[in-house]
Amino acid sequence: MQEFNLSPDLYDYDLVVIGGGSGGLAAAKEAAMYGKKVVVLDYVTPTPKGTTWGLGGTCVNVGCIPKKLMHQAAILGQAIRDSQRYGWELQEKGKKVSHNWSSMRQAVQDHIGSLRFGYSKALRDSKVTYMNAYGEFVGPHQIKATNSKGKETFYTAAAFIIATGERPRYLGIPGDKEYCITSDDLFSLPQSPGRTLVVGASYVALECAGFLAGLGLDISVMVRSILLRGFDQQMANKIGEHMEQHGVTFIRQFVPTKVEQIEEGSPGKLKVTAKSTDGKETFEGEYNTVLLAIGRDACTRTIGLDTVGVKVNVKTGKIPVNEEEQTNVPHVYAIGDVLEGKLELTPVAIQAGRLLARRLYTEHSTKCDYTNVPTTVFTPLEYGACGLSEEDSIQKYGEDNVEVYHSNFWPLEWTVPARDNNTCYAKIICHKQDSERVVGFHVLGPNAGEMTQGFAAAMKCGMTKEQLDNTIGIHPVCAEVFTTLSVTKRSGGDIAKGGC
Ligand code: FAD
Ligand code: NAP
Repeated sequence: MQEFNLSPDLYDYDLVVIGGGSGGLAAAKEAAMYGKKVVVLDYVTPTPKGTTWGLGGTCVNVGCIPKKLMHQAAILGQAIRDSQRYGWELQEKGKKVSHNWSSMRQAVQDHIGSLRFGYSKALRDSKVTYMNAYGEFVGPHQIKATNSKGKETFYTAAAFIIATGERPRYLGIPGDKEYCITSDDLFSLPQSPGRTLVVGASYVALECAGFLAGLGLDISVMVRSILLRGFDQQMANKIGEHMEQHGVTFIRQFVPTKVEQIEEGSPGKLKVTAKSTDGKETFEGEYNTVLLAIGRDACTRTIGLDTVGVKVNVKTGKIPVNEEEQTNVPHVYAIGDVLEGKLELTPVAIQAGRLLARRLYTEHSTKCDYTNVPTTVFTPLEYGACGLSEEDSIQKYGEDNVEVYHSNFWPLEWTVPARDNNTCYAKIICHKQDSERVVGFHVLGPNAGEMTQGFAAAMKCGMTKEQLDNTIGIHPVCAEVFTTLSVTKRSGGDIAKGGC
């Protein structure tokens, strides 16, 4: 780490954290724990639709939390259908079970409110100063904080952490900001989005499309190229097939060119014109809602980074850092979604923030380890992954040096309602020359995140295929499939499996 003067006497604060989301809050609280004088600035610029929220950042307000809760709402719908085969008599004659968007939205927003309250309390308890203000560098060690009324306050500090995260991108076509929404608006929509076109094909798009379809809405997904770029493509395509089988329409190789309002009201009606990526075909469709999920831009363009000399990737707006999360300016650090080349996940931002504060203010030297970070895509059929995709394993080690073990499985719980036989799938990728160490773990099935977390810990310890084989399974659960994998892809053997 490059040295700089950490002396608090020269400045108002030891540390200014810009951005009170997952990473920023974790770093601020950790620094305060070591007796440091810390201020956190957090400010949410309203969306073009006027949606705004409070402290806590993306995850709690417009990301992981509302997404997972709405995913749960959709899963409960499936459970209601399954329950009838288990003897529950739900339907009175002529009465259908229905879903009420406003009730769900209110319950989810109430929970978010309670989490936000917890965050402000935690800051107060840790004696971190919180300012609901927009932070912008105005000098090498000085920041301007502007609140919603335009009042400006200036702070100096020995060190700074940039944790400003990202915001959804817009298409830059006629009607996008005027008529479309993004995930920043979705979770607090007062009314059901109705018939919806989701544009994009990665995490946010597929998760939102998945739970909206699970709530019984008519959902289409417009895909520019492939599903879940960067993920194992066999798994990505299986997710797509499952969503298609469960009523989601995929409009492939198209991009929108224009969005027009054809009917006012809530939600009203929009006409979307799109063209195929080869430019040969045109598509027109009518929807109540168009949800853009085409990626996110780092919030780094208007925070005075040029004033302080922090280098930013001009194309992406992302901030390059060394392995200590230090920018090219020694007393300015960055963590979380703004980082170049790092994973955009809440636990990653939290871990980086905590460890950074610990390194800055104690003798600890542990750095954030960005390898083998587990993740889950909360699509209707959840996808948990850790380590390399099959494509990346082959590219890294060569096809002959990689052994892939795989199996379909049928969760016992699904056998009685007789649904989705052989759609769940488990796959591990082993590096043959390294005692068949597991370098990629992939699972499609219920509670995939719960399954993946434990195996990720084992992968950190260097788990091999033999160790998995020597592990006694828990019966009857889905994860036990990983203790009995015997068919390799190379052998082309039968991977169909009945209930566990
Ligand atoms: P953020 O949490 O975005 O916090 C940045 C904060 O800084 C925000 O409050 C912002 O308003 C504020 N800010 C910006 N500029 C300024 C400024 N100049 N001054 C003051 N404040 C400023 N990750 C998971 O691990 N699991 C999931 O299931 C998951 N689901 C997601 C679902 C969705 C729909 C989305 C969009 C993201 C999801 N993520 C998920 C990703 C996760 O939310 C982010 O990786 C995480 O929030 C990043 O934390 P951060 O601290 O870098 O930024
Ligand atoms: P993303 O991963 O950057 O994906 C953007 C998607 O939009 C891609 O499918 C891309 O297609 C498409 N796209 C981009 N520009 C387009 C255009 N002009 N027209 C049509 N399609 C376009 O973005 P994201 O889904 O918003 O996710 C952002 C990050 O949030 C992720 O990296 C993830 O780390 C985090 N996140 C995590 C979770 C979770 O942990 N469960 C959930 C949600 C988000 P191409 O492939 O053709 O480029």
